[in-house]
Amino acid sequence: LIQDIVEFMEPVLMEKKVTVHCTMDDTEVWADRGLFREMIMNLLDNAVKYNRPGGHVYIDVRHDGHKAFFVIRDTGIGIPEDKQQRVFERFYRADSSRSRKIKGTGLGLAIVKHIVEQHHGTIALNSKENEGTTITVTLPM
Ligand code: ATP
Ligand code: MG
Repeated sequence: LIQDIVEFMEPVLMEKKVTVHCTMDDTEVWADRGLFREMIMNLLDNAVKYNRPGGHVYIDVRHDGHKAFFVIRDTGIGIPEDKQQRVFERFYRADSSRSRKIKGTGLGLAIVKHIVEQHHGTIALNSKENEGTTITVTLPM
């Protein structure tokens, strides 16, 4: 499913000159397929949109038999530390000088968080300004 989404995004990746790298264990979770797709799409959209030309996105899928881990890391502009707490709020956009020109409504991560919670999972954010962002979604298998 994730590979399908990456293929679907190929035109955007070409345009933005961003390369996606996937490493995946064979991982199955009980999830709503449409919502899961929407979650990955939103996270990938951010990882590409807030990246730089020639940048990279690393998707890593693993599991430990009980939980599945979906890690999406980008080499983009990152989120300033004082804004990181708020990015999951509806309509919140971390308005750095770099991201101001980038279009969005600020709903993507609020939707993602909602989907993760509906699936009894957790979401964690790790980001450093000017270096990149890592989002880790953990779902029960
Ligand atoms: P939408 O997703 O609704 O089109 P959006 O991308 O602005 O708009 P969110 O996906 O909710 O909204 O993200 C909220 C804010 O968090 C963004 O405006 C951006 O400032 C910051 N952000 C999210 N993901 C990243 C990322 N991978 N790298 C840098 N900043 C990010
Ligand atoms: Mg978004």
